[in-house]
Amino acid sequence: MNQVIVQLKKTFRSAQNIVFFGGAGVSTESGIPDFRGAGGLFEHAPEVMLSYSYFRSHPEEFFRFYRQHMIHPDAKPNKAHMALAELERQGRLKAVVTQNIDGLHGAAGSVNVLELHGSVHRNYCISCGKPHPLETVTQAAGIPRCPCGGVVRPDVVLYEEGLDPKILEAAADAIRGADVLVVGGTSLNVYPAAGLLRYLQGDSLVLINKSETPYDRHADIIIRDSIGETLGQAVLA
Ligand code: ZN
Repeated sequence: MNQVIVQLKKTFRSAQNIVFFGGAGVSTESGIPDFRGAGGLFEHAPEVMLSYSYFRSHPEEFFRFYRQHMIHPDAKPNKAHMALAELERQGRLKAVVTQNIDGLHGAAGSVNVLELHGSVHRNYCISCGKPHPLETVTQAAGIPRCPCGGVVRPDVVLYEEGLDPKILEAAADAIRGADVLVVGGTSLNVYPAAGLLRYLQGDSLVLINKSETPYDRHADIIIRDSIGETLGQAVLA
């Protein structure tokens, strides 16, 4: 086992309040491509197709794109998800803050998951508010509808929409209380990732990412490797 994994193991073993902050790289290892790379056959960039105004003006095209690129019902949690759930069971990890909307942390057994951008598994009618399961969206031929006739939309933060301030606040609180913050699968270039990091007061910042991030010089441990392999070795091995 290499030196940095040994160091990570030691850090985890002495930690009492680990918080994980994860980005798209956590999900790509479960075979979920980063949607920012999607498009091609579509008329507009993903940032347009997934905007609130496009959802309102072109719901059919919106849902076609959304179903094709944002929903991955066969994806399974990888070792990163499993390791984080295990750390929570051990009582060492207090929260997972994620930018992903696939629900894989919950599927792996994590309980305290703060989904900054919402979840494809939660959907609701924009007319009556009734909650709907993912199947309402996946099984609809075109625009998913509630029995009341209203459009059912995903509880996912679209472009042009703000993040839920309650979830942001909970994420800031979790990071403020962390003794070890593990950041993985994000280049930390996009809001709100970078902003949230400034709440860290704890001893250790661990960065696991395949490319450089603007926060590398603040990190106590930097690992440029697969997040699943790294956390798997440090926690599950
Ligand atoms: Zn309804």
